[in-house]
Amino acid sequence: MRCKDPIIVVKDLYVYFYTYAGIVQAINSVSLEICRGETYCLVGETGCGKSVTSKALTRLIKPPGRIEKGEIYYYPEPGKKIDIRKLSEEELRELRGYEISYIFQDPSTSLDPLYTLGYQVAETMAFHKVVHNIKDGIRKAVVVLKNAMMPDAETRVKAYPHELSGGLKQRGAIGISLANQPRLLIADEPTTALDVTIQAQIMDFLRKLKEKEGLTLLLITHNMGLVAEMCDTVAVMYAGEIVEEAPVEILFKNPMHPYTKGLLKAVPVHVGKKVTLQSIPGTVPNLIFPPPGCRFHPRCSYKFDPCDKKRPPMIEVEENHKVACWLYEKKG
Ligand code: SF4
Repeated sequence: MRCKDPIIVVKDLYVYFYTYAGIVQAINSVSLEICRGETYCLVGETGCGKSVTSKALTRLIKPPGRIEKGEIYYYPEPGKKIDIRKLSEEELRELRGYEISYIFQDPSTSLDPLYTLGYQVAETMAFHKVVHNIKDGIRKAVVVLKNAMMPDAETRVKAYPHELSGGLKQRGAIGISLANQPRLLIADEPTTALDVTIQAQIMDFLRKLKEKEGLTLLLITHNMGLVAEMCDTVAVMYAGEIVEEAPVEILFKNPMHPYTKGLLKAVPVHVGKKVTLQSIPGTVPNLIFPPPGCRFHPRCSYKFDPCDKKRPPMIEVEENHKVACWLYEKKG
């Protein structure tokens, strides 16, 4: 095991969506471990399964989606193991928003337009019995929103979501997710819908919060700059599979999977002279008909004989650095 003290362990997870067009094989044998207190990043292009993986952690996959098989364990404290797949719906509701919270990409869709921000903060606290009732919760909501960097929280507590800008809405959503002081915060592209100044403020806030509260953060992003700044461990996802996992410095210094190399070459860098930005040819495959063997093979310039026939195993190429690619078979 990579972590001495894991907070989440996922083994051989499969998630499929049963659509009219066919079965979308969205997650294909994903295994990962998140260590308590670290920032673990899932990176990859849109549609590669990052959000589906994160939602599966608390069984938030809704029909036509389904967890086909796999194990998901949550460890609220060292040695105490909860099998997420065996929890009832009621037990899951107690876990979500209390032990494990989410911040989603678009705050407009995570906030209820019919209720004030204060009510929504109070509701989550009252549901988990952190406060006695909604009235008590609304009083405490001001402090919660202040802690989530909400300017003029006393006024904003009475505001409806439509009265707030995108940045203020996201701060409100952050307030709701942190109201019950979760142990694990899952931030799914939390700043993608915001302008760069607000992005920087929110990421800085999450970093400080993590240091202060000892929170564990699962950050989902396609922004390699954010990965470099925020993460301890990075897992690169492609077409529903983890293709490489490593501590952040190692991944940037020594990327091994051709897809990771392509992602890093596609990052714009200011070097003073004009360079043509590289891109990975092709697009993410249709997961109703995923390519056989290595799912990346139609786009890979290194592909050779076994690549289009056999799925590459995950090989540990150095300590805590794993890669799923036939190029490294002998080095494992
Ligand atoms: Fe490329 Fe083959 Fe490695 Fe897949 S297994 S990334 S096709 S070299």
